Amino acid sequence: MPEGPGSCGKPNFQRSGPAALGEFELISKFFDFAQSTSAAWPSQGIGDDCAFLDVGALRIAVTSDMMALGTHFFEDAPPYTVGRKALAVNLSDLAAAGSTPQAFFLSISLPEVNGLWLSEFSRGLKEESERYCCPLRGGDTVRSFVGLCGTQKYTVLSICALGSLPPGAGLTRSGAQTGDIIWVSGTPGDAACALGAKLGTWKCESRELSYFLSRLQTPTPRVELGERLLGVADACCDISDGLLGDLGHILERSDKSAELFWDEFPLSEAMRRMPEGVQKKCVLSGGDDYELLFTAPEEKSAQIKKISQDLNLRLTPIGRIDSKPRVCEESSEFGVSQSRVTVLDTAGRRIFAQPSFDHFHEKL
Ligand code: ADP
Ligand code: MG
Repeated sequence: MPEGPGSCGKPNFQRSGPAALGEFELISKFFDFAQSTSAAWPSQGIGDDCAFLDVGALRIAVTSDMMALGTHFFEDAPPYTVGRKALAVNLSDLAAAGSTPQAFFLSISLPEVNGLWLSEFSRGLKEESERYCCPLRGGDTVRSFVGLCGTQKYTVLSICALGSLPPGAGLTRSGAQTGDIIWVSGTPGDAACALGAKLGTWKCESRELSYFLSRLQTPTPRVELGERLLGVADACCDISDGLLGDLGHILERSDKSAELFWDEFPLSEAMRRMPEGVQKKCVLSGGDDYELLFTAPEEKSAQIKKISQDLNLRLTPIGRIDSKPRVCEESSEFGVSQSRVTVLDTAGRRIFAQPSFDHFHEKL
């Protein structure tokens, strides 16, 4: 039953049970229809950054990511950057699957027609689309409900993007092997540092803030890297919710555990100037980086370093996949949680990190 106008966001079905679920429990409880596979277009099902659809001899990677005002971007975010990011986050999922972007569809829900905002938004979207040769092929436009619940604006941008893959190929979260090295691209944590500064959780100098903001507002989808990792990486995902949480998805789906070494983590120059507590919070648990996190056998390390040189992109080994599932219950300042990941500092002591972003649990 949909919420009707005038309900002011208070649906009749109350929050007993489902609201206590986290984002991923919610998805698996209500939307993992594992049995409904199509015989003509087989797929691996949900749980990866992209679904693969085998259509005849073609393999198509499909993803759908949404951006909501207030959740994914601030009202004062330049609309040009909102347009770029709306597509970039989807291209990032295509990259995590190792696929080549081919087309996207845009669905927008707007409270009003603001020509200035829309022209800047579409300029950013078009530029990103041209940069990655991923044309817009359709979508939907609706007016969202506004007015009866006060001044709260409700803008939601949803994109479905499609990429191509060689038949039978594609990176997933489920292929990590014992002994694999865990790699990350770029310098994770920078986007979360901007978010914390915007929310007043910590302060940054203006030079650093403008760098962090650029990473938050215009992330770089690692499309070429994803393509180059086909046949090299065993497992891959992008970092949208936080490094530990996203690595957790790889570990769960591969049924492994992992050890990470904090000293090996790549920090940007700007991040190095932040207090250590902020660094750990942003790098380990902050989201919105859209860097790739992948695992590969040790013997592929030279090949990965070559890819790093070719693309002029920092790729850093930060840990290793362990053989046995080592799910331990950990108790820390962040409460009791189950973790397959151990993060060690220089002295070999365990670092406890805040859980990653979950739309229905605590925020950064
Ligand atoms: P992504 O990196 O694409 O954002 P997530 O880790 O957030 O992926 O989501 C985990 C998996 O759950 C993905 O395979 C995603 O497609 C799927 N998923 C998320 N929301 C829904 C939904 N409402 N219905 C079906 N599948 C969903
Ligand atoms: Mg993703």
